[in-house]
Amino acid sequence: MEPVIPGVTLPASELGYYSLTLIISSIVHEVGHAIAAVREDVHLSNVGVRLFFILPVAYVSLNTDDIQKLNSKKSLKIFCAGVWHNIVLSLGAYVIYLILPIIFSSLYNLNSGVIVTDIAKNSPLKGENGILLHDKIMQINDCVVTNSKKWYECLQKTKSNKLGFCVTADAVNVLDETSDVSHISNGEINCCAPGKFSSVCFEYIEHNDGIVEIPPHSCLPVRPVIEKSLKFCNVDVSCPEGLHCIKPLLNNSTHILKITCVHKDIIYMGHPYDLLTVHVSSYIPKYSFISSNAADTFERFIMYIALFSFGFAIINVIPCFFMDGQHIISALLNYVLTPRIGDEKVVATISLSVTLCGTFFLFCFMIYGVWTHLPL
Ligand SMILES: [Zn+2]
Repeated sequence: MEPVIPGVTLPASELGYYSLTLIISSIVHEVGHAIAAVREDVHLSNVGVRLFFILPVAYVSLNTDDIQKLNSKKSLKIFCAGVWHNIVLSLGAYVIYLILPIIFSSLYNLNSGVIVTDIAKNSPLKGENGILLHDKIMQINDCVVTNSKKWYECLQKTKSNKLGFCVTADAVNVLDETSDVSHISNGEINCCAPGKFSSVCFEYIEHNDGIVEIPPHSCLPVRPVIEKSLKFCNVDVSCPEGLHCIKPLLNNSTHILKITCVHKDIIYMGHPYDLLTVHVSSYIPKYSFISSNAADTFERFIMYIALFSFGFAIINVIPCFFMDGQHIISALLNYVLTPRIGDEKVVATISLSVTLCGTFFLFCFMIYGVWTHLPL
């Protein structure tokens, strides 16, 4: 659990989503109180919308005299109704979120790759030979991208695992552009002549003690090597018989990425996280008149409803001043303890102590949350 800080724990660009879901959660919460109150013959003295900081939230005021006439059990029902309705809304939204693939299956192809929905203006991957809008991406290096979740996993995997390429000795010998192999000051090796920007020095990784058919270091043009490569390899995965594993010698932040799309392969040299400038969707439309954005928007909206409505319930159940929790704990202790203790003042003191503790806990939690998330 963490506090909601727009722009810090939640992206500022999604302010519209959480404003709307907060309004809906508050309306459902107040409707819950209102229904429970009407059932117990408590009159509503006021219903409306007010501003909470900058966000509008719904509110319902109940007739205090009517509530005081109720026994603890009935008033407990009214105080808990808001939280209960938020939990039901949250669970309902979560179930819809889980079955969204079934709901959208007649309109979209799912788990068969991702579709590019937007590319940031400053993206290094933008361009004629780069990624284009509506490209369908299937794979990043050896990582198969089935949906947007897998897309992020693949970026993480690619970042932490630099791969080599399985090529034939003939391919290396034909493409070889090696000039002098030289050691750079920090121990790195270079074998490409200055100015060969589309070539990289590759190191030969031999897994078996076979006959060495290619030199230990070769300067090779990146695109042709990757096009001729039949498989990826690393220290754990060796190449099939007749192929050799060559690994690019690049600095830590630079990777060679082979982005496999439906009709083309894109070769990119840079950081895997540069791909975060490309926005993708798991929802690949089956028909040209359908947009992936509609499904993405609905999915995000329903996810926020589930999260915010649950958060609304949690915050209201904590025994804290100005929250439902204050009234819930008071009614609950009256219901449970008063018949046993018999002294209402003692029960009221216990209720006040619990509320003070709850308020202190919530206050500390909020301070801690802001302290750990804001760049102070
Ligand atoms: Zn409430």
